[in-house]
This record gives sequence, structure tokens and C-alpha cells, in this order.
Amino acid sequence: MISAAEIKSRDLTPSFARAQNRLRPPGRWTAYIAPAVTKPASAASALVARRAAFAAALAGWYREEARRLPWREAPSLYKTVVSEFMLQQTQVKTVLPYFARWLAALPDFAALAAAPEAAVLKLWEGLGYYSRARNLQRLAQALAIRPEMPRGAEAWQELPGVGPYTAAAVTSIAFGAPAACVDGNVVRILARLTADGREFRDSATAARALAPLAQELMPAAAPGDHNQAMMELGATICLRQNPLCGRCPVLAFCAAGRRGEPGAYPRLAARRVERQVVTRVWCEREGALLLHRAHAGARRLAGQHELPTAEQAGLTIAAAGRGRLLARKRRAITRFQIVESIHAARAPRPLTPGLVWAPLAQLDALVLSGPHRRWIGEILRGRAKPK
Ligand code: SF4
Repeated sequence: MISAAEIKSRDLTPSFARAQNRLRPPGRWTAYIAPAVTKPASAASALVARRAAFAAALAGWYREEARRLPWREAPSLYKTVVSEFMLQQTQVKTVLPYFARWLAALPDFAALAAAPEAAVLKLWEGLGYYSRARNLQRLAQALAIRPEMPRGAEAWQELPGVGPYTAAAVTSIAFGAPAACVDGNVVRILARLTADGREFRDSATAARALAPLAQELMPAAAPGDHNQAMMELGATICLRQNPLCGRCPVLAFCAAGRRGEPGAYPRLAARRVERQVVTRVWCEREGALLLHRAHAGARRLAGQHELPTAEQAGLTIAAAGRGRLLARKRRAITRFQIVESIHAARAPRPLTPGLVWAPLAQLDALVLSGPHRRWIGEILRGRAKPK
């Protein structure tokens, strides 16, 4: 228990003392707690000065508290790469069943490189951002023809679909390269550790600004574990809403946590929300449904089928909107708030490019985007209900 006298003598803030007193009984990682209080302006340099203790506190916590995840069990380069691609903009609990299915069907780079693209996209169906699946396959194909496996982060960034974050994650975990990962989780942790009051335009700008600090905090030993520990801290303790500072292994190093104001960081400029209205059509003929197949180069939906928009079906929005309303759906994609209406319509003749007739009995075998599979299922089930 930290007493009032100790708070005064150690120049601690009351919120820091309260958080410390909520900690579990002293354990291995609490031994790293350091008493110094830093001014916001010097917080980053003070943190760097204590980076060895910081890294040790984080590592001790990670050893004891890390979640058991399938890509951490008997780890391999392939598992690391697949998990990093799947985890981009996607939560762990969503990825878990996809990862298991993927590993069962495509156990290594060679199997992935040789698989038909349709099979790869089918395994990815529902995870979104399908260009990741295609890039993952292109990466496997690129690795297959290289004389030796690249081991550095810079070399990995030259491979298909590999950006700075993925390159750092893969090479630090698989090869022990000292490359710091900086994603939204790490941005949040670093901004809070240093009470960084700068306003960043967006998360990517913040990541670029904080990358040097992340790199300075990187220990020489086990950089992969350090990166994973930072990610784990962001996912389980330093949460966006209601961070668990009282259970945080690096509270003693955290300017925002000790002041009791973690929610004030990072400061990101408010995102302009854009509203969109989309009119889609439902055309059926002889047990087949009209769908639009996104072209192979489309970033988000490459190779995916969706209900066609009015424009894709060659109709005006007004004409499509006169058809019977079958469903109205709302969803958010990045900064877009989208309302989509699905109307019954007659199929255009001839079909416009990208449109295909998909037999209803074979929809399961088709690669459909996640929301559209759900909507189509709802409409079909609703129609099958007894009147
Ligand atoms: S003390 Fe709180 S704000 Fe600071 S890193 Fe830990 S959880 Fe995040």
C-alpha cells in the first residue's frame, strides 16, 4: 500500500498511488516499478532513459499473461505470416476460426502458392479486405521462386502485400530482426506513456511520428517477443475505452496512466463521417440470382460477388427504387456510414459487364462478401416463411 507520506516523498500523483494500490500483491513484474514522475515534455526522453526497465517489466508480464493463440503454439514463419495478414484491421476472435480452416487446407507456402485463387478467396470469405488474401498468395508465389528466404524488414517490404508493420512483425518474430511494429495499438500505448498531446491527422500519421520512439524502446534481446508484448498490452490492457491501468505492468512508466487521464491520448483529429445511400437490385430468373463479380484488381472486394447496385445493373436509381423494397441495411466501412436498400427488379438485357447468373442452389460454393451472404440468406429465409 502506498501511504500519503510516501506519495509526498516520492512526488507521486494521487491517481498514480490509487492505481498502484489496486495492483495485485507484488509479483515478478511489479518489482520493476520505478518511482520517478516525469513532466509531459520530457516524458519521451525519460522513458527512453529507462527503456531497459520498461522492456523488462513488459517482458515479465507477457511471459505470464500472454494469451495462448494458435500462431504462437509451435510457431513457424508461415503461421506468423498468415496470422499477420489476417489480423490486419481484424480482431483476434474473428480470425481464430479462419486461421484454423486456412492451416488445415493450406498448411504451408507451397500449398498456398499452388492453390486456385477461387479456393483461396473462399477460405477468406467473410474476413473482408480480400486483397489481403490475394496478396498473401502472391507473397507465397514470390517466396517460392526466391533462392533464399529474406530475413530483414526492408527486404520483406519489397514483397507483395507487405507494408512496414507486417515486415517488422514477421521479421522480428521469425528472425529476431530488431524492427519495431507500430500499429493503432502501439500508437495508443506510446502516446499514453508519454502523454503526447500533439494532435495527429490520423492513425497512420501518428504511427509515423511515434515510430522512432517505438524503435528506441526496442530491446536487443527477443525483439519479436517485445513487439508481441506491446500488441498484447494494447489488445488486453491499454484498451481504447476504459484502459485497465490498475493492472498494467508499465503503469510506473506511463505519464497518462499516473495522471489518471489515459483517455486523453492519443489525440486524433475528428474523422469526417460521410453518409452514403446505395440502391441494389434483386433479380431472379429460373432459380438463379443476378450477382455482380468485382474485378480481380478491386482493392476491397477482388473476385467477390455481391448483389448489383442499380448502376451495375444498368438502371437509374429512381427506376430501381420503384421496385418492391426487400430489405434496408445499415453498415459502416471506415469513415462511411452506408444505408443500402435492396429492391426487386427485372434483369437487364443484355447483361452489363460483371453481372452473372448464380444458381441459388450453388450459392454456398460461390465467394460472396460477408454482409451480402447474410442479406441474401435473410431474404430467402423470409420468403420461405409460411404466410
Ligand atoms: S498505465 Fe494505463 S494508459 Fe498507461 S500504458 Fe498502461 S493501460 Fe495504458
